[in-house]
Amino acid sequence: AAKSDPDSGYRLYDPTIKDARAESRALEGALRSAHDNNEFELFYQPILDLATNRIWGCEALVRWKHPTKGMIPPLEFIPTAEESGLIGPIGDWILKEACSTAMTWSFPLKVAVNLSPMQFKRRDIFTSVKQALAASGLPASRLVLEITETVKLTEESTATLKRLKALGVSIALDDFGTGYASMSYLRSFPFDKIKIDQSFVRGMTGSPDSRAIVKATISLANDLRMSTTAEGVETEEQLDALRLAGASQAQGYFIAKPMSREAIAAFIADDRRARQSEQDDMPRMR
Ligand code: C2E
Ligand code: MG
Ligand code: MG
Ligand code: MG
Repeated sequence: AAKSDPDSGYRLYDPTIKDARAESRALEGALRSAHDNNEFELFYQPILDLATNRIWGCEALVRWKHPTKGMIPPLEFIPTAEESGLIGPIGDWILKEACSTAMTWSFPLKVAVNLSPMQFKRRDIFTSVKQALAASGLPASRLVLEITETVKLTEESTATLKRLKALGVSIALDDFGTGYASMSYLRSFPFDKIKIDQSFVRGMTGSPDSRAIVKATISLANDLRMSTTAEGVETEEQLDALRLAGASQAQGYFIAKPMSREAIAAFIADDRRARQSEQDDMPRMR
């Protein structure tokens, strides 16, 4: 029977695998038309500077506004966008859109953009970034690129990251601590920032072990002259613990959820107005 013969290629006829392939082909087609029809939208999540208690910048997070299925989160379509190569044009759009949105903000805050491994493999990412900066007029110093350990630090990708840094762009290591080789990865490239994964932040208030890992990461980052952003801060207790541990920045639902381009512009203006009025209340030196 086909199933007992290892050379029969029966796996191809496994109905679940066939379904999965058909489904991913259908998704690929849908993604292609979504790109043509401008169905992607970026949301922006504020990042709080713990030293000043003001917004430091925002992370751009892509969503797919599907005409019938509603808002689809990135983890449901980014993998297929990568496999199909569509992440190339979609990623270019994300870079341009994030940079031009940051130009509309009433204060020159940073904007962080996530990059996929395929954008290094199949795309001239250096040129894409340069074009996004040129088209928007955003100074390179306001752009942060977030990569994870899934980006292989080959000689070529390391050289690309160094050229980006030379432009003035910052490079952050996202989801730190969740990959297989966080330490050697950290040694392979002079990142500007480490983003501490939310799994550790979530554990901080209940588990001494998570707290120890977060503290050690912050101290390691400081020694390596890198700043730290703690992700997924959902409670005031977590935020207090992070301040105590000396994190540079915090991001999470407790501070604000990701929001639309319109909402973030208002959020930023409010935050800075609040700072201005605080300064006005301070006793003046004579
Ligand atoms: P990430 O870069 O680590 O982004 C943080 C994720 O955590 C976001 O999920 C954000 O909405 C979520 N988050 C923020 N604060 C909290 C919190 O307090 N609690 C919890 N439970 N979650 C929080 P999102 O937007 O669904 O994105 C998931 C992942 O998809 C991102 O993880 C990133 O790896 C990828 N992604 C998102 N946008 C892009 C993009 O434009 N390009 C690429 N290549 N990947 C993207
Ligand atoms: Mg990120
Ligand atoms: Mg992350
Ligand atoms: Mg992630």
